[in-house]
Amino acid sequence: MQGSFGTGTTPAARPRPQAHPGCADRLATPEPLQLTVLGSASPYPRADNPCSGYLVSHRGTRIWVDAGSGTLGPLQEHVPLADLDAVWISHLHADHCADLLTAYYGLLFADVQRAAPLPLFAPAGTADRLAGFLTNTAHPSQRSPVESAFRITELHDGHQTVVGSLRLTSRAVEHGMPAFALRVDADGGSLVYSGDTAPCPALTQLAGGCDALLCEADSAGEPVDGEKVHHTPEDAAATALASRAGRLLLTHVGPFLSPAEAVQRAADRYSGAVDYAGPGSSFTVGAADREAAS
Ligand SMILES: [Zn+2]
Ligand SMILES: [Zn+2]
Repeated sequence: MQGSFGTGTTPAARPRPQAHPGCADRLATPEPLQLTVLGSASPYPRADNPCSGYLVSHRGTRIWVDAGSGTLGPLQEHVPLADLDAVWISHLHADHCADLLTAYYGLLFADVQRAAPLPLFAPAGTADRLAGFLTNTAHPSQRSPVESAFRITELHDGHQTVVGSLRLTSRAVEHGMPAFALRVDADGGSLVYSGDTAPCPALTQLAGGCDALLCEADSAGEPVDGEKVHHTPEDAAATALASRAGRLLLTHVGPFLSPAEAVQRAADRYSGAVDYAGPGSSFTVGAADREAAS
């Protein structure tokens, strides 16, 4: 299903090739990325929309990007926890990470069988934050074994890693707390996810020349007081323009905006395709996005 609102067109999802693990580089045809929106609500889940969570897939590699409340359920419509390759968390606001708590129960105390802990890329302090909630006694020796469920790598500005067929690059962004944006590069596509952030040079640089920018549009307007920590739809358009993104996917549309209004406001400032990345929608991200934009 495509986003319900938007100006863009998305090529139909292509079937995944029957590649053997490790043989991807020998396949002749570059493969675009697949983005599936598990939820996008801010700042609490709605009846028809979990909080922030996305599944990025490519050649059998599956990464859960943000684990907002309510996203673990729909994630499993696409991939069981046992087969997930990694989790990446933008920041520790609960609407982006709360389902790590129940994922922990699944990984350690249920029917999920994994050969090793699930790789988790997340801001510094994530293990202690999880343990602080999960530990049921005050005795230090009884701290919940978070590291048995997750193999945690703490993010830093410029962090890079490879997971399966995907290269992940993280940049620190401006959200009034430690927060990161993510670039996912594959042989046939590049996707940048803003996480939560005010417009900032790091995000624009990270998104430079990407096929698709998945950008939050949480703010209906400029903050009355305090620092700016989110994008408005116009900001998302400006970031997409400045970074020469192939298309703009608006997500995490705030509680005082409608998706249709957000798309319209962004489309008024950005000539490329603009779509709403709402729950249940999926997008093929690849060179076709850049060709359509040029
Ligand atoms: Zn946030
Ligand atoms: Zn948020």
